[in-house]
Amino acid sequence: MATATTPDFNKVLYAPLAEIDPEVQNIIDKETWRQFSGLELIASENLTSRATMEANGSILTNKYSEGLPNARYYGGNEYVDELEILCQKRALQAFRLDGAKWGVNVQPYSGSTANFAALTALLQPQDRLMGLGLPDGGHLTHGYYTAKKKMTASSIYFQSLPYALDPSTQFIDYEGLAKQAKIFKPRLIICGASAYPRDWDYATLRKIADEHGAYLMADIAHISGLVAAGEQANPFEYCDVVTTTTHKTLRGPRAGLIFFKRNSDKSLDLEKRVNDAVFPACQGGPHNNTIAGIATALLQATQPTWQAYAKQVIANARTLGAELVSRGYKLQTSGTDNHLVLWDLRPLKLTGSKLEKLCDLVGITINKNAVSGDASAQVPGGIRLGTSALTSRDMKEEDIKIVADFLHRAVQTALTLQNEAGSKLLKDFVRVATVQQEGKVGAQQVVDLRKEVRTFARRWPLPGVDVSSLQRPAGIEEDE
Ligand code: PLP
Repeated sequence: MATATTPDFNKVLYAPLAEIDPEVQNIIDKETWRQFSGLELIASENLTSRATMEANGSILTNKYSEGLPNARYYGGNEYVDELEILCQKRALQAFRLDGAKWGVNVQPYSGSTANFAALTALLQPQDRLMGLGLPDGGHLTHGYYTAKKKMTASSIYFQSLPYALDPSTQFIDYEGLAKQAKIFKPRLIICGASAYPRDWDYATLRKIADEHGAYLMADIAHISGLVAAGEQANPFEYCDVVTTTTHKTLRGPRAGLIFFKRNSDKSLDLEKRVNDAVFPACQGGPHNNTIAGIATALLQATQPTWQAYAKQVIANARTLGAELVSRGYKLQTSGTDNHLVLWDLRPLKLTGSKLEKLCDLVGITINKNAVSGDASAQVPGGIRLGTSALTSRDMKEEDIKIVADFLHRAVQTALTLQNEAGSKLLKDFVRVATVQQEGKVGAQQVVDLRKEVRTFARRWPLPGVDVSSLQRPAGIEEDE
């Protein structure tokens, strides 16, 4: 009879990753080194904690648990039930919600699936919805389509009309939205964005929704960590449903949450509609390891230290914006209220793609982004920057000033390279940036800036990792 000791017969099940699969381990090591050696400014990213990573990598990945706590389609869920109930409790606590008035589904695999499940709960096929247009900072899942194609399930299965920013202020055009809604008569208005540096006027949105008997849903994916800290307006005061990802400012694992308002009117039973929409309408078994990671991240978001983190994220974003403006650069809305700034590069005659590429070469991770008024979403005229990750590495305003200076030098180098390339093509730009040539200075500037960025970045801790024992992994050159 087998005994309950670690057996020899099937070592593959017991050996550590590094031993059993050095190839995958090496890729993980290289990515760890990249995160340690670079400056992460992607506004939708953060650096989660060791506890969250442990929970996310736990044995809970083995378990199937379709259904809800105490109503599963599989046996053996007594601890998974305990976990999911704990996660729900912490989610309500993190956003200071009364469980008699609000409930939450913690099973969505990601923000996109949370949003599609929310639409499935609130709408019938071909019902009408309005969300902020993608070129103005909205998300794909808020009804995006182009003149040629319905791009996402939210425009394929529903009729969608985007609202926009006021071109003169670049703030949400609430008046324009009200006028459009009068004609379009939406069943649902979605607020929230992926690239909007300002806060939301939920009271006005509620008023517009009520004029048409529409639901109001906030997708607070980007700002949920700040909302939890009470550092942004509170969407729960006005919305029927609130969705979020858990991995952006909230700093958890990659997943989503759907909060729903409880209502005594059975025809408005959002609890049943949301829960049924998540499973079985849109998903199968929940990822219990991820739910454990969410629970752990939410515990952190209920601690007194969380507010200090959120305040610092915003202070850092404001500093970053102010530093760029002081060097003569243009920001959408001229500043920020949250964790991100949208940098309009069009006055410089430089595309977002080129600056993104250049920054990648020097170890600064950013993403190209459409800015209001861009002729085409395919050629974004700007860059989106966020401070959540650098704040998790413990940077304060003075450190962010150094980062702003690196970005300034990156732009100046990109302009030099653009000149030296002698063409507008990205491939020519990359060639002159990476190959030293007689009489050209841009490629050397890239090397010099990369060295400085690396030295600066490696001074900082990396959440979840003991950097004192980190070694440069095989496959990464010394100056990379
Ligand atoms: N909603 C918003 C506002 C987002 O910005 C994003 C992603 O960036 C999502 C939803 C989608 O989240 P996920 O990538 O987890 O599907």
